This record gives sequence, structure tokens and C-alpha cells, in this order.
Amino acid sequence: MTKDHTDTKSPGFSWDAVQSALAGLPNGAGLNIAHEAVDRHAAGPLRDRTAFRWIGEDGDPQDLSYGKLSALTNRFANVLEALGVEKGDGVFACADRIPELYIAALGAFKHGAVFCPLFSAFGPEPIRQRLERGKARVLLTTGRLFRQKISALTEQLPDLRHVILTDAVTADTLAYPDLMAAAADTYAIPPTDPEDSALLHFTSGTTGMPKGAIHVHGAILVHHITGRHVLDLRDPDVFWCTADPGWVTGTIYGIITPLLMGVTSIIDEGAFDAVRWFEILASQGVTVWYTSPTAIRRLMRVPPEEIRRYDLGRLRHILSVGEPLPPDAILWGRAVLGRDIHDTWWQTETGGIMIANTPAVTIRPGSMGKPIPGVTAAVLERREDNTVAVIEAPETVGELGLAVGWPSMFRGYLNEPERYARCFSDGWYLSGDLACRDADGYFWFVGRRDDIIKTSGQMVGPFEVERLLLSHPFVADAGVIGKPDPMIGEVVKAFVVLKPHIRADDDTRRELMAFSRKNLGAAIAPGEIEFADSIPKNRAGKVMRRLLKARELGEDLGDLSTLED
Ligand code: AMP
Repeated sequence: MTKDHTDTKSPGFSWDAVQSALAGLPNGAGLNIAHEAVDRHAAGPLRDRTAFRWIGEDGDPQDLSYGKLSALTNRFANVLEALGVEKGDGVFACADRIPELYIAALGAFKHGAVFCPLFSAFGPEPIRQRLERGKARVLLTTGRLFRQKISALTEQLPDLRHVILTDAVTADTLAYPDLMAAAADTYAIPPTDPEDSALLHFTSGTTGMPKGAIHVHGAILVHHITGRHVLDLRDPDVFWCTADPGWVTGTIYGIITPLLMGVTSIIDEGAFDAVRWFEILASQGVTVWYTSPTAIRRLMRVPPEEIRRYDLGRLRHILSVGEPLPPDAILWGRAVLGRDIHDTWWQTETGGIMIANTPAVTIRPGSMGKPIPGVTAAVLERREDNTVAVIEAPETVGELGLAVGWPSMFRGYLNEPERYARCFSDGWYLSGDLACRDADGYFWFVGRRDDIIKTSGQMVGPFEVERLLLSHPFVADAGVIGKPDPMIGEVVKAFVVLKPHIRADDDTRRELMAFSRKNLGAAIAPGEIEFADSIPKNRAGKVMRRLLKARELGEDLGDLSTLED
């Protein structure tokens, strides 16, 4: 039975004890994610266990055992070595959920490079931004994505030395099959300090462009403990994390953690489809399933009698992340799946689950649960002088904070030390989320402190969308908000002021929609555009999105004293 740890004061808990459950590199050469996740198992009794099973778009599965995964990731590490990639260099991937992406990530960890995944639904502009800001040295992608989104960018990216295509050959790129065939399948992981950078994940901000959160190899202590106590992974589980590795859940819990726990991980290469998902759960005998409220809301539309046709008898544990999990979703899980759905809370910056309904916690529908072992969370009040105070009174809303020092805490925002420093005060990391705690220590999500949009569980920074719209010759000004939506959480909604003589009609709207989708991609582009006479700004010239949102929702406009005019 899992113990109910609620904070660092849990008797007997220490991060050192967690570390001792891991192998470490041979000869005391440090701690490397890929060694713990892959090679450690490949050298032992799990050698022939299926590590990953990819379900292709056509439904055909492709399996890789821990032993084969070890050899292939060795090959990729050797490829990086041969290309002159050095410790700390950026190895980026922009691909769908195909085996090559997973092999590249783990091969990059082995070689000491910093892996950065880019969501394949991004358009050229977000891709260019991230490759440039992350100084990507190698990019792995597919022939289709290269042709559609990347080939035109490479001249603007002087740091990008090599583009590797998984399935195509062109004059100016390298072919993955050729590189892998020429590489040896043994590789000695160089010494790796737990503080060495391993992963770069871009996440949206409200004011500036996306921030690159840096994570280190030592973060696996959190992956290990959450794999055990939150995901409750044990031998011989079949685990399915439905998130795409373009987002942090898809790398931490879609690549690293299930391997760390030595279980079999299912990856669906196909797009969301409710029937397909129930088929996968049943046919693959999934025992532990980590998904999102947006997906659950869609699955809830399937008639229960249809769902009951699938044999979900092996499904033991269901979890959710990314947005508030509404109580009716939990009730649906109980009634239709016969299981509780366990909410978990974390962010790109925290590098792993921080607050959760573990199997040992009695669920209070609507609550995110309690902090995991080793993590202290609190509701904080930010004071004018930038210090913070812990709000002890239960049921009081404040900013959700975490006591600094958990191993998977991000170690910086790439090239933005001041932005990083602003996240901390008095030994606390300030998450930007508003929450409250009840008298029994359960945390309840209230909202965001800032204007970040959550659409289908994915963060979108309004500034990135406004900036793109402003680059269109028709647009004089733009303001972007998240408009509440019952299915996907929030829709990206843009208010646009047109230049004189541009007609505010459907043709213009279609043109701006198409322009946004082409450049930003479907994951970020606005779902709605409304023409406006002006965009409210404060005296410093910042878009007052709070006001745009209040107007949209017909709410009280609140304090207008900072409005420009
Ligand atoms: P990301 O960094 O993209 O993973 O997004 C992190 C943000 O998603 C958090 O700061 C929250 O605003 C939101 N989020 C994550 N998990 C939950 C949850 N269980 N309930 C409510 N919001 C969540």
C-alpha cells in the first residue's frame, strides 16, 4: 500500500534515499537519464521486455525491447558524436510521435546534448523562433515537415549545422537510416553530473516570446518517485501517456518515466479519435493511463453503452493533467469506466508532477490533491516589495508556490536570467497559478495570475499571436485572449483593429485566419477573430487583456484607472 506523504516532513523521506534506488553510471561517473531509463534495464532481466509499442496510423504496432532501444540509442549517440555535437549542444526534434523522435531524445541524453522537442503542429514561425533562440545545432524531422515548414528557414539559422530527415533524401540534409546504419551500436556514456542540462522545453509567457525552461539529468529523482507513487507503475504494467512529446508531459511521462520504471509504454501515432482510443485501451491491455481533461471531455460524448462494449478490465489507474479536471469527469469515470480519475498538477518549470491525487489519497472531486513526497507547496501572497507571505488560513486564494529545492526544478530560462529570477522570492518558486488549500491540505486550482491561454491543455502566449497578427499588412493593432469553451478549455480569440480602407468582412477574416494558421500552425492560431475599433491599452502601452476578456464575458470591467484613455 502506498503511503500518504504530504510534504517533506513525511517520516523517512529523503531525496538521497530516492537516489539510492537508481543505479548511477558505472564507476561513479554520475547520473544520466538514458542510463537509468534504458541501459540499466537492457543489462538486466528486462532486456527483452517491450519498452515502447508504437501503434501506427493504420493500427499496426511496432515494438522495441529495452535491449534494442539501448542499441539504437547508442547508435544515435554515435551519430551525434560523428557530427561533432558537443556536450550541451542543442539537438532538436520536430516530428510526430514516431520511433525516431524517441530514439533521438534518449540518444541525445546519452551523448550529453540538450534535447528540445518541437510540436509538429507548430507553423514555421514558432519553429524558427525556438530553433533560433535555442541555438539548435541538429534538427531531426521528417521529409514532409521539412518541406512544408522548415526548408525555407534554414538560411536564417546559422547555428543549425545539420538537418536529419527520417524518411527522405535531399541535397542539403542527412538521411537518418544511412547515419544509423553507419554507426556502431555500442556507446560509453560520458561522465554526467546530475546538474548537467538534459532537456530544453519552451513554454509560453504572457509578455514576451516563449521561455526555454532548462532541465537537468538529476530531475529523474522526481520522475522516479512520481512514477512509483503517483502513476503507481509496477511490473508488468502497460502504460499509456497520451500527450505529444512537443509538450512537457509527453517527454517526462511519455518518454522518460515509464522507461525508468521498466514498464511497457504505448505510443499512438494517430490523431485523437474516441473509438480508436477505447480500442487501444482494450486491445493493448493498458493498465495505467495518463491523459487530459480535454480528451476526457471528448470521450464523455461517447454513449456509455458503446464504451461498455470494450473490455477495459485491465485498466487499473487513470490520471489527468494540464487543466482543471471537473468533478463531472470524475463522476463519469466512476460510472462508466468504474474507476476514479486522479488529477495531477505540474508545469513545464516544475519538471515533474508536484501535486497529485495518489492512489493513497481519498479523492475530493475538483481538487488537484496533495503535494508529492519531498515537495512542500503553499498558497502565497505577493507583497508590494516583492517578498511573499504564506497564507495559512484555509480556503483563501493566493498564488501557488513550491519551496525551492526539488530535484526537477528548472534551472533557468535560456538566456533570460532576470526572467528566471522573477519566479522566486524568499525561498519559494511562484507558479503563476492561483489556488487555495483546504483545512485537510488538499489544493484546489482557481486560475492563472496572468493572461496565458490554455487551449486543449496547451499553453499559448497571447503575445506570440498578437505579434504575428501585427505583421500582416491589414492589421493596425491586435489583442488576444482565451475565451472559455466547454470542450477545449479556452479558444484563442483575437481582437483585430484593421488599417484604414481594409474591409471588416468575412474575406478579411478568412485571410487573417489562413495567415495565422499557415505561420503559427493549428496549435496556436486563433480559433476566432473579431474586428474592433481599438484595443484597450494601459498607460505603458500594454494590451489590457483583462479588459478585453471582461468585455467578452459581459463582466464588470473593474478598475479602469490604468487605462490609457
Ligand atoms: P504547461 O507548463 O504547459 O505544462 O502548463 C502548466 C499549467 O497548466 C499550470 O501552470 C496550470 O495553469 C495548468 N495545469 C496543469 N495541471 C493542472 C491541473 N491539474 N489543474 C488545473 N490546471 C492545471
